[in-house]
Amino acid sequence: MSGGEELLEQLQSYAGQQVGAPVAAPDEVNQAMIRHWVEAVDDQLPIYTDEAAAANSVHGGIVAPPVMLQAWIMRGFRPTPAEGGSAQDDLMALLDEAGFTSVVATNCDQEYGRYLRPGDRLTLTSFIESVSPEKTTALGVGHFITTRQEYRDQDGELVGTMTFRILKFRPAARKEAPAERPKRPRPVITQDSRFWFEGAKEHRLLIQKCSDCGDLRHPPGPMCHSCQSLRWEPVEASGRGTVHSYVVNHHPQLPAFDYPLAIGLIDLEEGTRLVADIVGIEPDDIEIGMAVELEWADHDPDLSLPQFHPVTAGGA
Ligand SMILES: [Zn+2]
Repeated sequence: MSGGEELLEQLQSYAGQQVGAPVAAPDEVNQAMIRHWVEAVDDQLPIYTDEAAAANSVHGGIVAPPVMLQAWIMRGFRPTPAEGGSAQDDLMALLDEAGFTSVVATNCDQEYGRYLRPGDRLTLTSFIESVSPEKTTALGVGHFITTRQEYRDQDGELVGTMTFRILKFRPAARKEAPAERPKRPRPVITQDSRFWFEGAKEHRLLIQKCSDCGDLRHPPGPMCHSCQSLRWEPVEASGRGTVHSYVVNHHPQLPAFDYPLAIGLIDLEEGTRLVADIVGIEPDDIEIGMAVELEWADHDPDLSLPQFHPVTAGGA
């Protein structure tokens, strides 16, 4: 038996094993977490938060969004190690030793048995479902590991499952570090946002305007939030605005950016808001409400982005 075959046999012996002891949800399904969730993802379906509407629906009361399944038992920022170790940890250690030291998540599928309701208390049991033979991928050579998570309620009923697959791989050898500064990451340009980036290349800060009701909107999207019209036209912003909020990014540091990096949420005088770098000022001196104005940064021939500097005393 070759070393590779021996390793694969060892790895595949983990298939079917339970990953440590079952984990109990720290809190029962509750309205507060549901509210935070639906606000974060902007899901306005009333069955999640409106008692009266939920009571009149087929559910007869408040239910939790099914996609919150994992949230009820997600581990915290400082996870406590599983008592008595876990098969998953052992499997990972085995792969690390064999040189498959990097990891990337590849797929996640969830299935829901029923809607969860406030008061339900979940328990999670995880199993290693399979370990693939060695595969060659764009990231490097590695093994796909699939785990199956079973979510049960206080009565032991299976209420949902999640299949989660990762690739544990041997990182490809690093290429020589480029002498030139790498380019900024490319924005994802969609059919809806293309006009905005094209405008930016011409140093024009554009806002989408509904051709029917005249409402302005940003970020770009296909439909007017006010009147559901699909007709729109671009208008050019004056470039004057104020700082609605900001963050100063220290970590992680990417070589294409300068740090500390102040990123603002800018209220344009037209009434829309956008995210852009704040420059020309020490981050400590930035203030909420501060008047700022647009300037353009040509990061490379294909990428121009708006950024904002403070309006100097005396007016610029
Ligand atoms: Zn409209």
